Amino acid sequence: MPDNSQVTELIDKFGRRVDYIRLSVTDRCDFRCVYCMTEDMTFLPRDQILSLEELYRVAKVFTELGVKKIRLTGGEPMVRSNVMSLIEKLGALPGLEELLLTTNGAQLEKYAIPLKAAGVNRINISIDSLDAERFKRISRVGKLDKVLAGIEAASAAGFERIRLNSVVMRGYNEDEVLDLADYAVEHDLDIAFIEEMPLGEASDHAREDTTCSNAWVREKIEEKYQLVDSAETTAGPARFAKIADHKSRIGFISPVTHNFCEDCNRVRVTVEGRLLLCLGNEHSVDLRAILRNPKNDDTVLKQALIDSMQIKPERHYFFDKDHAQPVRLMNMTGG
Ligand code: SAM
Ligand code: SF4
Repeated sequence: MPDNSQVTELIDKFGRRVDYIRLSVTDRCDFRCVYCMTEDMTFLPRDQILSLEELYRVAKVFTELGVKKIRLTGGEPMVRSNVMSLIEKLGALPGLEELLLTTNGAQLEKYAIPLKAAGVNRINISIDSLDAERFKRISRVGKLDKVLAGIEAASAAGFERIRLNSVVMRGYNEDEVLDLADYAVEHDLDIAFIEEMPLGEASDHAREDTTCSNAWVREKIEEKYQLVDSAETTAGPARFAKIADHKSRIGFISPVTHNFCEDCNRVRVTVEGRLLLCLGNEHSVDLRAILRNPKNDDTVLKQALIDSMQIKPERHYFFDKDHAQPVRLMNMTGG
């Protein structure tokens, strides 16, 4: 086996450095958003998902390979039992500069303060509508007032640069783009508009009918606000603009209409321990098998992560009929 004790970073064969992982801590959720899940989901049995200890081990070895930023996601991270114990350990992980969380916000009233104390730096909260009935239609079961209370709790706990995430879908909420932007501006929050991605088959609609381009969303917003493009990027499909005379920034996450794969600095780990090298492709490595083989110590895991860089695809091909589309839904992918 090659001696990788000196390797301290992950660089793929296109020269892209991976220093950001999105770690899914559960495939389960208390919502059933129409773009993310089908109505009658079957979730993974317990023995197939990584334990909190295994998730920590993966995170630790990634940080030893130069990963500076971890985003916890899912499913809904806050429904994983005892997730706070993992978050506390990650918050103290040497080398980790940013610990981030993406949540539906429904439990933030309870958890905002403990999350801040555990060292979570920033939170993204998903909200697709400000109308209670419509919110329920999109999330199938979610309650808008819980999420609004969660957003307030996160602000009160002192989180800075809280970002709202809104998936804009024709026929569901495209007429609310300005209301959502107004809400963000009034509360000094950032907001990112996300194009719906064709991850797995949606059960309530055909994605081709609902996908709404961010170019259109931006035009809507510019009917009211002056946007000043920001050079800042998250090295991903997000582009940000400042709103003149306000603190809020507006992000446009356009994985479908724009391909920013050349800057990609991230990989995902699903809760089954599948290392996904690209959101839009099935290339993956089974980390669970490595973690669960008692003969393997962390050097084997480290080697697998280094080797995985050789299969990170150059780009995705969303909606391209000449290329296979991912069959996994977003809750299995880790959003
Ligand atoms: N449950 C948390 C939440 O909703 O924020 C975290 C996981 S969720 C899968 C992460 C993000 O992915 C959310 O902002 C959600 O809106 C987005 N998402 C889910 N399915 C999507 C899809 N098919 N296309 C685009 N965004 C999607
Ligand atoms: Fe749950 Fe988030 Fe998926 Fe909605 S987007 S169903 S909140 S995991």
